[in-house]
Amino acid sequence: MSTKFASQDKYTRLKKGLRYGGFKFTCNMCGFKARKMIPTGHKHPIFQENIIVGAGFRKNAICPLCCATDKLR
Ligand SMILES: [Zn+2]
Repeated sequence: MSTKFASQDKYTRLKKGLRYGGFKFTCNMCGFKARKMIPTGHKHPIFQENIIVGAGFRKNAICPLCCATDKLR
């Protein structure tokens, strides 16, 4: 039985590395180095009017390899 996650096989790492790989961000969970991360959140006006921590649209939030969010990291 393999202890690796399904998202960390070599073909998935290569595919994600070609699309997101770079040196700008490093994921603390899996060590993946990325030039951009997956955006998440909602663009609702209430999040833009009020400063709410952890809510609203965030550009670089989810690791493309292990799917760890900015809150997890
Ligand atoms: Zn990661």
